[in-house]
Amino acid sequence: MHRTPLIAANWKMNGSAALAQDMTAALNELSQGTTTVVVCPPATLLTAFTNPKTFALGGQTLSHEVSGAFTGELSANLLLEAGATYVIVGHSERRELNFETDALIAAKLSRAVAAGLTPILCVGESLSERQQEKTQQVLARQLDAVYASQPELLANSVIAYEPIWAIGTGESATPEQAQATHHFIRQHLAKFNSQSAVTVKLLYGGSVNADNCVALFQQADIDGALVGGASLKPVEFAQICLAVT
Ligand code: PEP
Repeated sequence: MHRTPLIAANWKMNGSAALAQDMTAALNELSQGTTTVVVCPPATLLTAFTNPKTFALGGQTLSHEVSGAFTGELSANLLLEAGATYVIVGHSERRELNFETDALIAAKLSRAVAAGLTPILCVGESLSERQQEKTQQVLARQLDAVYASQPELLANSVIAYEPIWAIGTGESATPEQAQATHHFIRQHLAKFNSQSAVTVKLLYGGSVNADNCVALFQQADIDGALVGGASLKPVEFAQICLAVT
């Protein structure tokens, strides 16, 4: 099964309007191939991307509510109006720093799909969970929380496997480690919908850069990447986009 690749940039709380312009220039030079490229800047910068020809935009989180008295929150419709068509859901930093639970993440993902945004669901284990050989147990819990009660959402999802110990550490999972875990995720997803488990795009995230991405992209179950630090460098991010086929 050939799945078309997807590369997503997670700027986190970084960037500027000037970087939005530089990134646009670098990405618009790429020919519009089959690879989907998504840039997820801070929400205030979505409208600073005035001419995105070869890539889409995404939010970094959204509210599970439609609208109302939720100071500081951003709804799916507000993201859509600002130009986003994707949204990251359940990033480990939000799970940890903003106390987002599995149940809340399931509600957010459901809201995103209902509004017409494509969610990029992040899952991944901590270092101690990996050392205790609990990786599969943790991933199964995170996936079950979202898809057991709403399996139809899998067809509209992108999933990013992001081992927490690899995020921002410079220590990427090896291609073999990442492939083994992606394979487990795809197998596990088959219990929700066997067809969607084959077609769903699985991204790897965690210290991806222009040097290590090629070996990761050669793995059978890795369909692209969610890139943090290296996505703040337009030339390197464009190289990563070019490396995936
Ligand atoms: C991320 O935060 O989603 C991420 C993968 O970051 P980095 O590439 O910097 O490890």
